[in-house]
Amino acid sequence: MAEQTPLTGVDPPHLLTPLPGDRSRDLVDRLALRECPAITARRTRRAQALGLSDTDPVVWSEALGCNVVDVDGNRFVDLTAGFGVASVGHRHPTVVAAGQAQLARLPHAMGDAFPDPRRVELLERLAALTGLGRGILGCSGSDAVDAALKTACIATGRPRVLAFEDGYHGLASGVLPATHYRADAFARPFGPRFASWVDHRPFGTLPESLEAYGGVLVEPVQGRGGMRPAPAGWLQDLSSLCQRDGALLILDEVFTGCGRTGSWFAFQHEGIRPDLLCVGKGLASGFPISACVGSEEVMDAWGASTGEALHTQTFLGNPVGCAMALACLDVLEGQDLPGRAREVGARWATGLARIGPVRGRGLMLGVSLPDALTTSRRLLERGWIVLPAGPRAEVLGLTPPLTIPEPLLDAFLADLEACA
Ligand code: PMP
Repeated sequence: MAEQTPLTGVDPPHLLTPLPGDRSRDLVDRLALRECPAITARRTRRAQALGLSDTDPVVWSEALGCNVVDVDGNRFVDLTAGFGVASVGHRHPTVVAAGQAQLARLPHAMGDAFPDPRRVELLERLAALTGLGRGILGCSGSDAVDAALKTACIATGRPRVLAFEDGYHGLASGVLPATHYRADAFARPFGPRFASWVDHRPFGTLPESLEAYGGVLVEPVQGRGGMRPAPAGWLQDLSSLCQRDGALLILDEVFTGCGRTGSWFAFQHEGIRPDLLCVGKGLASGFPISACVGSEEVMDAWGASTGEALHTQTFLGNPVGCAMALACLDVLEGQDLPGRAREVGARWATGLARIGPVRGRGLMLGVSLPDALTTSRRLLERGWIVLPAGPRAEVLGLTPPLTIPEPLLDAFLADLEACA
């Protein structure tokens, strides 16, 4: 196999093989034998025989900064930040060092039974950053939303939730009813069990009353739903309505949080304060950790643990995740990456607008294209990792690491112009 030079994290794409390469192909074939077939999208031999496009994934082997290398030695630029996770870039040295030091000292504590110092520090840090004084840590975005929905129910005594069309809040059973994006595919197979306690209305609209609801769950910018920002002023109106009718405003900032939209959290653009805030993805730039934070008053509705925690899990507040999150927050703050996302995102959006209508905020952008799915595949074949977004895959989603150098963004524009 031809070798790449060592990664710098800011290199342009460089492909050595047609995609997917032989090693990727072999691994994906092996995966298909052992993994539930609903998980990894791939070509079928039948599709190939019909001459349809080969959509097998490439298998990732190494990453640094904005670069990913696959098992065949092909070097890509990741404009997804791995689903928005690699906020400060893949394998950031400060984050890795913090994780390694923690791993060498205490990789696991005991959730609700025996805490460790990193968990205390992370909850303190999140309180300082958000102004929301207490939290529940989890391992995924779904965990954070699940904790918020349970909290809203406990705090208000009202189990019903209002969510919005094309919203995405995860696929775990506790949050699946709230996810409207592609609900026909995601929820319908599970039947009425997942139907009952959530109402959906169009994103950007207000109901007459929220008195029936304990919580209103909303993304400030819909991510998978198509990088769609809330209309100006709407979140303020929603917040006022929540206050009037005693429903809690739950902001799902799993995607928008940690600097992505150009402020620490997207709610800070809006002059509002949520009752509950969900954070995940970019919190540790590569470790599965999430948080639901809320006001003291709302969180205290749970009441004190009497020894049997009402809400916990085995890996709650994992020390390695907390240490990496703390380091990641240090990097975000030290380099003012939220500010950088705002400035660089605005410049990039101007360039992208030459190619198609642009929406989004900061470095969470979508470009409308006639066939974003095909364009994303063509871009992969030029070494750019991108994903389509929106219920009809109508936009190309762009959520690179917040550290991405501008020359790479300019180089991408040239290739996008050629592919779109
Ligand atoms: N909320 C939002 C806004 C998300 O974008 C996602 C993931 N795409 C989730 C929740 C669910 O997160 P996870 O996949 O980590 O459970």
